[in-house]
Amino acid sequence: MGYAINVALIKGDGIGVDVASAAIHVMEAALAKVGEPKPAYDNIQAGAGYYREAGRDIEVDGEKRAGDADAIFLGAIGLPSVRYADGTEVSPHLRLRDRFGLYAGVRPVKAYPNAPQRLADPRARAIDLVILRESTEGLFYSAAAHGRSLVVTDDEVQDVLRITRPTTTRLHHFAFGLAQKRKQRGKSGKLTCVDKANVFTSMAFFRKIFDEVRTGYPDIEVGYNYVDAQALDLVRKPWDFDVLVTENMFGDILSDLAGGLVGGMGMAACAEIGDSVGLFQPAHGSAPDIIGQDKANPLAAILSAGLMLDYLAEKLGNQRLADAAMLIDEAVDSGFAQNLLRPMEFGGDMGTIAVTEQVATLVEA
Ligand code: ATP
Repeated sequence: MGYAINVALIKGDGIGVDVASAAIHVMEAALAKVGEPKPAYDNIQAGAGYYREAGRDIEVDGEKRAGDADAIFLGAIGLPSVRYADGTEVSPHLRLRDRFGLYAGVRPVKAYPNAPQRLADPRARAIDLVILRESTEGLFYSAAAHGRSLVVTDDEVQDVLRITRPTTTRLHHFAFGLAQKRKQRGKSGKLTCVDKANVFTSMAFFRKIFDEVRTGYPDIEVGYNYVDAQALDLVRKPWDFDVLVTENMFGDILSDLAGGLVGGMGMAACAEIGDSVGLFQPAHGSAPDIIGQDKANPLAAILSAGLMLDYLAEKLGNQRLADAAMLIDEAVDSGFAQNLLRPMEFGGDMGTIAVTEQVATLVEA
């Protein structure tokens, strides 16, 4: 039996609390199955509810403790009724992204049998791709929270799209590494650089660095697509793609489009990875409209816990953690295939608890 992994746990607000508990339950079942101990948790108070009570959005030493753990797991943060004094949303997790340089936003997009499919073409059943969204610069460099807009008058506003060599180099290495890993797991491992290099100097630079990094990975097939054509192709033939690497804003838009193709927010897992810290969370918010009703689909959180175990397997050099991650993926896949997973989000009869118990049972089988 190995050492227990240390997880910083921020359950947050609304359904974040329920889906984080669900993910922990399934993760512990998978770890037990491969002979690993339960993780040690550092519960960190943060979010809109905490802000309302404590007047701050995360515990005093919360950010540091989050960075000290082997990985951070987050449920969801934010409540429409609670705002900072300036009227913006409570969002301590955005500071975590900045503080720890979580540049690699990983969004898997996968079609499961019996889950909703929005495309009539039967090949849509084979959708299985990953969008890698750079998450610290690009057009979000100018996000309002950073106060960096160049000209702000009543007549003109400019936002900056910033691409830097260090971040882009790391991003592309991460993309090729991800493609290699997927290729080892029997997928095509083709990597597509999505940009607008025909129009923007910043995007030509993004592609230039892609081509430089590419020379180190002769085993990986590459492709190029302009972002507008990529939007078209994600509807016309998403089954043709495996890994897409792109700038922050393009990735923000394309990952929601792609997520919509395979169901909805309750399936959207997400990893945000930097050089030494990884944060894992479902891509959805706190869903205030369904709080406390056992209606939330916990699968995005559960699949995010799988991404976390996969990350930890590499970080800590422990293959059993990768095996546990695989167990979670397989349980979700076979659960849908056997029609044992019927989340209410898709019109089914199973609430958060029932879905969680079912996935745990499949993991243990
Ligand atoms: P944020 O800006 O924090 O992402 P949001 O208000 O844009 O939050 P969500 O909180 O994700 O979005 O909710 C959007 C819609 O999706 C809501 O109707 C919500 O009920 C639904 N939803 C989100 N997550 C789930 C889930 N896990 N299961 C079922 N429905 C969900």
